[in-house]
Amino acid sequence: MGGELGRFSATTRDLPGLTTGVAANGVSIVSRRESRLVRIGSVPVGGGSPISVQSMTKTRTDDVAATVAQIKQLEAVGCEIVRCAVPDEDAASALREIKKQISLPLVADVHFQHKLALMALENGADALRINPGNIGGRDRVEEVARAALERGAPIRVGVNSGSLEKKLRERAEQTETDKRAGAVAKAMVESARRHIGILEDLGFNDIIISLKSSDVRTTVQSYRLMAEVCDYPFHIGVTEAGSVLSGAVKSAVGLGILLNDGLGDTVRVSLTGPPEDEVRVAYMILRALGLRERGPEVISCPTCGRCQIDLVSLVEEVERGVAGVDDAVKIAVMGCVVNGPGEAREADVGIAGGKGSGVLFRSGEIVRKVEEGELAQTLIREVRRMTE
Ligand code: SF4
Repeated sequence: MGGELGRFSATTRDLPGLTTGVAANGVSIVSRRESRLVRIGSVPVGGGSPISVQSMTKTRTDDVAATVAQIKQLEAVGCEIVRCAVPDEDAASALREIKKQISLPLVADVHFQHKLALMALENGADALRINPGNIGGRDRVEEVARAALERGAPIRVGVNSGSLEKKLRERAEQTETDKRAGAVAKAMVESARRHIGILEDLGFNDIIISLKSSDVRTTVQSYRLMAEVCDYPFHIGVTEAGSVLSGAVKSAVGLGILLNDGLGDTVRVSLTGPPEDEVRVAYMILRALGLRERGPEVISCPTCGRCQIDLVSLVEEVERGVAGVDDAVKIAVMGCVVNGPGEAREADVGIAGGKGSGVLFRSGEIVRKVEEGELAQTLIREVRRMTE
């Protein structure tokens, strides 16, 4: 087997420095950790590449039609890498037909069974998520690593706090409560290093790492510790984050801290909800840090006693009306003209409500008065005109 040989320590010679990264839109305010470049199909991960957004299908993978339909929906909202669960041979076989019908790079998520990993690769998976320490002896790991190397498919080693090896978990649990998060983080890093060491022993270095916990502080601490000892790119996320609202908040806090630290090369937001929402939330997080921009951003005021229009319905109608727009455009929907245009000066286009009417403005300048019933459609037309 070719490739750079050596144990984990051999590839962790230097502590990674933080450098200024370049975001997809050419603008970045976050200094990013230097990580090595790995490719999942056509999508580069690490090495200063734009931080990619990924998600996972929630259909049965052996239901090809449903899975392909969901992947296309994900692609339409900006998903760049998709992962499918491969729990059995039917799912592994289905990947061949799924691959024929999609253009996104596909990651096969396999646990414990090395045969499924081999089948997934044969059927066109662009990457594997599998933990080498969980698939049996060296022979099996070697078989999988060789097949992945032949296909140019990276392997994501993904450690979740909930499925830590028994010995590591018990050790962490014996730690005092106030130090528990730190102990779990250390145990997760130790577990990841064990899995990675197995691959490195075989000369396999096309590795991506994830260290996820449902606890935000444990997740953050794990990645920070890992960043001190290796330069493999990071897939970041908070696992089992929760329903759409609580999961989005938890993910925003966890990913926000990590991204602001310069850590993270590809992101997955986990939500108990439609996978398209995972992608939308991921872009919102990236946009908040100036790392990626995609689609319209609707800025709306919280309303107050000055508001004399139904702003909530207006915002909902505008959001629905611009949902299919891919270009980054800032839209302000403000409750009144007192502060509206001024508060939304940064917006490309906006409206500010008045009594039974509102004004349309562009770049903070008032353009004309519009009747209340026409406000939403006027704004949607403006956005479409600007982005055509
Ligand atoms: Fe109140 Fe006007 Fe500010 Fe909205 S824009 S919060 S209505 S002052």
